[in-house]
Amino acid sequence: MLNVENIRKDFPILNLSVYGKPLVYLDNGATTQKPRVVVDAITNEYYNVNANVHRGVHFLSQKATELHEQARETIRAFIHAKSTSEIVFTRGTTESINLVASCFSESCMKEGDEVILSSMEHHSNIVPWQMVANRKGIRIKVIPINDQGELLVEDYKKLFTERTRIVSVTHVSNVLGTVNPVKEIIRIAHDHGVPVLIDGAQSAPHIPIDVEELDCDFFAFSGHKIYGPTGIGVLYGKESWLDRLPPYQGGGEMIQHVSFEKTTYNELPYKFEAGTPDYVGSHALAVAIDYLSALGMENIHEYERSLTDYAMKQLQQIEGMRIYGTAKDKDAVISFLLGDIHHLDMGTLLDRLGIAVRTGHHCAEPLMHRLGIEGTVRASLSFYNTREEIDSLASAIKRLKQMF
Ligand code: PLP
Repeated sequence: MLNVENIRKDFPILNLSVYGKPLVYLDNGATTQKPRVVVDAITNEYYNVNANVHRGVHFLSQKATELHEQARETIRAFIHAKSTSEIVFTRGTTESINLVASCFSESCMKEGDEVILSSMEHHSNIVPWQMVANRKGIRIKVIPINDQGELLVEDYKKLFTERTRIVSVTHVSNVLGTVNPVKEIIRIAHDHGVPVLIDGAQSAPHIPIDVEELDCDFFAFSGHKIYGPTGIGVLYGKESWLDRLPPYQGGGEMIQHVSFEKTTYNELPYKFEAGTPDYVGSHALAVAIDYLSALGMENIHEYERSLTDYAMKQLQQIEGMRIYGTAKDKDAVISFLLGDIHHLDMGTLLDRLGIAVRTGHHCAEPLMHRLGIEGTVRASLSFYNTREEIDSLASAIKRLKQMF
């Protein structure tokens, strides 16, 4: 499937030792490590190309513009969008969702209208909606989950009223690893004439994405979670929707003509890209995506699924283990607690053994309330992780259990 031994050589940071122990990096849900080609692309662009994009007649500006616009095309192809007009560069998933929440509510929602979210959303798919809800008197409705961490689709259907204006749900939960049936969720919403935003922060790095096949209206993801740099992300939007929405921020780049009497806005996607874009980041993100495409997203998905199954089996064998998120369709994220060991103690002690995991509420406090806990330990996997690393995690947990 994948030659993981060779792949690991592309990620220099994986050779680090921490506290004298080989690093086992299992915090990929928070951010992924970068292959050498991505870091080289950043260095190379600053050394050999750097110039502001779009407005320059000179050689460097044109070269930088070419790289930036080629990156848009790479991303379009990666998620199977129809046109590069549908690919908006943002700072990340958070900004993409804020953009939709702000522009959609401004133009398409009135007091008393409703938005449907789910109980497993990251704060970045809750708070932007709450902010506009407070401003405009919009109601938020929440899809419940079962104890395995799966969305209750029958309950979801019952949430629709004639005031429902948009659905915004995560593709993959960053806590439970649940892969939501987004195609079905989208079909149901469309039956009510309601558009859907998919938070793809935790799916785009792991699952082949085809926005046309999903038929989602908006799709958001972050560069840094998909082996690219920090500070760049993507909002996909169907052209028909992006055309309808007002601009998000004002400034250079997003205008056609400006006078003190009247300003006209630029065509898509520039209408949503005020100011100098992160053109080095966009190019480096495209390099990351080319790297993934060369490995094959199907291969990545298959490998990570089998690694997740293996990890689940290893961890479930440990006495006192409680795993949160046992959905039938589950991806690369495992949240757990052991006996009455506090998640922070577990995370801190695993770190001393060289194992990087995340602890806490994972920016999903409403989900923690639903689960009746304050936080978990979370191991999140990548295609560069190995079964040996999972074994190290399992034996470290057993060691810590004895200590307690
Ligand atoms: N949505 C989900 C499901 C996430 O896991 C995250 C980050 O962890 C985000 C949104 C926010 O991503 P970012 O901080 O890159 O904007």
